[in-house]
Amino acid sequence: MIRVCKTKFKTGKGALNRLFACNRISGEIWSDCLRIAGEHHKKTGKWIDKTELQKAVKRKYPLHSQSIQGVVHKYLQAREGARQARAKGYATRYPYKKKGNFVTKWAKDGFEVKPNGKIELSMGIWKGKRQKPIIVSVKEVPQGKIKEIELVWDNGLYLAISYEKGEPLERACVKAKGREEKPKAAGSEEAPPAKICAIDMGEIHAIAAVEEAGEGIIITGRKVRSIKRLRNKKHKELSKKLARVKKGSRRAKKLQRAKRKVSSKTKAQQRDILHKISRSFVRWAEDNQVTTVVVGDVEGVQRNTSAKKKKNSKKKRRSRKVSQKLSQWSFGLLLTYLAYKLAEAGIELIKFPEEYTSQTCPVCHRRKKVSGRVYRCYCGYTQHRDIHGALNILAKYKYGEICETGIKIGKIKYLRPTTYVVKSSRRPGPGLWESGQKPFVGTTVVGSANGSQTSFKDEMLLTECRSMLTPGDSLKPPPL
Ligand SMILES: [Zn+2]
Repeated sequence: MIRVCKTKFKTGKGALNRLFACNRISGEIWSDCLRIAGEHHKKTGKWIDKTELQKAVKRKYPLHSQSIQGVVHKYLQAREGARQARAKGYATRYPYKKKGNFVTKWAKDGFEVKPNGKIELSMGIWKGKRQKPIIVSVKEVPQGKIKEIELVWDNGLYLAISYEKGEPLERACVKAKGREEKPKAAGSEEAPPAKICAIDMGEIHAIAAVEEAGEGIIITGRKVRSIKRLRNKKHKELSKKLARVKKGSRRAKKLQRAKRKVSSKTKAQQRDILHKISRSFVRWAEDNQVTTVVVGDVEGVQRNTSAKKKKNSKKKRRSRKVSQKLSQWSFGLLLTYLAYKLAEAGIELIKFPEEYTSQTCPVCHRRKKVSGRVYRCYCGYTQHRDIHGALNILAKYKYGEICETGIKIGKIKYLRPTTYVVKSSRRPGPGLWESGQKPFVGTTVVGSANGSQTSFKDEMLLTECRSMLTPGDSLKPPPL
């Protein structure tokens, strides 16, 4: 599995300027790729192919040859992506925007990791002379074989280090230490019996799940929502100010920077919480020896839309659409995190259409829109709303239709993903941060399920904080 670790680094001032220059040159290469490809198309009426484009840019820049190739590959990928999208009927444009800055990549021959943690980034031959390498030092070099290093901008320069992850060391340690090994203690060598668990994902309750034996878990997603709200509020304020200042002025730039900072921060917070949510779910699934997880596929399902709201004014509708987009986006993200965390734990994940699972009564099959936290049917059936949804998904998956499963809901665990609250016992040893300070979250680990072909932005969606801790605080169940 290829993972990406985005990390801060230290370097001298001269080297920092050279790093900035690297990304400027990469931007230049990108723009040149556009130009060369365009000219080629004008002349021949055909698309330029990889070999020709690579030949056209080879040795034209002071970057390492593989770094130059890296930009060419990214350009070709973008072109191919646009082609595929267009074939599907989307109005995607082929790459056309010139770039002042672009990500610089050092592939396997382009860097060297020294034993003292310093990384040497090689440069290319310029005017007959090999340029001096740039040396940076990072706090922590990820364990595993490093595949490539990218220099990325996210309100500051960062290194994105892709590496191959072998044994999930951390997990193995945790298991060996604290968590009793249930299957082994039982002495049975054969695989444990299949146990299905169904998840219903929602906005207020990020995850509500029940398994066949009747154990349930509800993990709240309120924090995600509050973060989003705060972000929107701040954005609104800044946009208001931005509208009043002169375009392109220093003040405008400052405000734009502030805006970007807000979004990058909230994004990180959101990812952090989603990771905690997915992690605690996977822990729970492991503890209950779940083998298969069925998740209601929210794709295409419009949530929280009622006829009454549709009568709302146009303006209101649009804003709701935006908020829906946001919420759906985090569903997708949560699902991505769940997918790879479950895979690591050896649990199968199945997406399953969830139409009407939240509305239908399993006893009399009448449909009803739910309002409030409890689903109450005319026939007398009542159930906690989210557990009801999960139960129906489970029934639909197992029996092909929504029906009574006969599962007696036992204990329901309520969890809330905690943020920035560090339990003293869980703290990594001293030295990482001074007491009273916030934990150091400089290094983030990104898991990518499908390898390294995704762009950096995509991979950043999969960011995981290393220093993150499990949520443990149980909440009192909300009044039913
Ligand atoms: Zn009913």
